Amino acid sequence: MAMYIVADQCISCGDCEPLCPTSSIFEGKVVFEITKETCTECEGDHASPKCVEVCPIDDCILPLKKAS
Ligand code: SF4
Ligand code: SF4
Repeated sequence: MAMYIVADQCISCGDCEPLCPTSSIFEGKVVFEITKETCTECEGDHASPKCVEVCPIDDCILPLKKAS
C-alpha cells in the first residue's frame, strides 16, 4: 500500500518531504512525487499518513489503487 501525489493539485510547497519517515517523497520534474515501493502509508510510524496531514491542499495525496 502506498500514497501518491495528484500532480494537478500539488503546489510544490515541499512541506511533506522532510516529514516522511521513509524518505519516500522527492521533488520530481514537475511536482513532488512519492516512491511507491518505499511508502508504507506511515504504518508503524504515525497513526495516519503524515504527508496527508501536513499537505495544505485537500485531496492532493491519495491512496494508490492496487494495479490489477
Ligand atoms: S504516507 Fe507516510 S511513508 Fe508514505 S509518503 Fe506519506 S509520509 Fe511518506
Ligand atoms: S505538501 Fe502537498 S502541495 Fe506541498 S509538496 Fe507535498 S504534496 Fe505538494
